[in-house]
Amino acid sequence: MSDLKQKTNALHAGHDTKLTGGTRAVPIYQTSSYVFNNTEHAANLFGLKEFGFIYTRLNNPTNDILEKRLAAVEGGVGAAVFASGSSAISSTFLTLLKAGDHIVSSNSLYGGTFNLLNVTLPRFGINTSFVDPDDVSTFQAAIQENTRAIFIESLGNPKLDVLDIEAIANVAKANNIPLIVDNTVATPTLLNPIKYGANIVIHSLTKYIGGQGTSLGGAVIDAGNFDWTNGKFPEFTEPSKGYHGLKYAEALGEIAFIVKLRLEGLRDFGGALSPYNAFQIIQGLETLDLRIKQHSKNALEFATWLTEQDEVDWVKYPGLAGDKYNDLAKKYLPDGQSGIVTVGLKGGYEAAQKLADNAKIFSLLANIGDTKSLLIHPASTTHQQLSLEDQLSAGVRPELIRLSIGLEDLEDLKNDFKQALKA
Ligand SMILES: *Cc1c(COP(=O)(O)O)cnc(C)c1O
Repeated sequence: MSDLKQKTNALHAGHDTKLTGGTRAVPIYQTSSYVFNNTEHAANLFGLKEFGFIYTRLNNPTNDILEKRLAAVEGGVGAAVFASGSSAISSTFLTLLKAGDHIVSSNSLYGGTFNLLNVTLPRFGINTSFVDPDDVSTFQAAIQENTRAIFIESLGNPKLDVLDIEAIANVAKANNIPLIVDNTVATPTLLNPIKYGANIVIHSLTKYIGGQGTSLGGAVIDAGNFDWTNGKFPEFTEPSKGYHGLKYAEALGEIAFIVKLRLEGLRDFGGALSPYNAFQIIQGLETLDLRIKQHSKNALEFATWLTEQDEVDWVKYPGLAGDKYNDLAKKYLPDGQSGIVTVGLKGGYEAAQKLADNAKIFSLLANIGDTKSLLIHPASTTHQQLSLEDQLSAGVRPELIRLSIGLEDLEDLKNDFKQALKA
């Protein structure tokens, strides 16, 4: 399917209808395990002499189709799906790194990822230096002899900074370490980081890809373009004790990382996606292209309208002419800048909370990327655990409200916002 275009792949990749009894929709294979033909077949599967299904923690036919589709739409050689975006991110780091290793990360991150890197991974001896991604030279300056990955969000949540992926990929390449990009907010429709040199792409499928706010999920896509034999990743070249002496890079070539992530990451950390959720997310992926373009259109119109309201101090949306990230958006997000808008009210923290309490169509909740419009006040919720300094470097000002603009009629959204501002 790889010669087909992205929109076609989102609908067809990975699904051979002859193998599923002719079903046009992808079936839900709700099974925990798979019958082996005989003991020899079972031994071959466990010995990786033959590929096949063993146990749903490792793989499942519904999940397999979702993985093939995600790899096709992002332009990777393989993918693995997880129970959530956070599981995808933590499993990636725990598969790739060991105690004593170091990460250089953008400081503009989803709150949960910031905590993972800043508080939890250091307990396991994996430390992170956070840098200001507006100045790409800070990435090189933070590289140490033990640095083993650079991590960024292509479009930061909630700062809405567009990162110069190509320039950051060059830093990673010069240092022989992989660039890992969380592409959740941008989506594969609007941006494919692999085209700009990324090595591993991660998504929270919970957001725009699922798109309906029904199911958690996460994914890791392997670009297949990183040389794991460069001396910095002995776990890829030395015999693996966890897999009967398998040498990942030698045996698996360009799919070494994604197979290791499945065989060790999913097997040992166990964050497998439920096939039912995979089915829900597949329905979302099939219409992602239509939805994210409409979300982007609505967000641009809503952001423009917000700039004209008296109570509004500032509005951030990378699609707005004059936005700090508008030039980078023109390069990396020419077909739309996704559905998130942030706004600061003149009345500060209290006014932000009041607005959140009085909005009726906008739901006050901790999610983005639903068809319905959502809002949250990050300083008192998602980023509450961060120090004020860390909040500010993540772009979370006290008065900031994060909006996830849905697919409702814009007149209704404007009227709802107007009445909430007056309250
Ligand atoms: C939501 C989100 C995550 C975490 O994903 P979950 O599916 O909620 O675990 C990671 N990164 C970004 C950018 C997100 O928006």
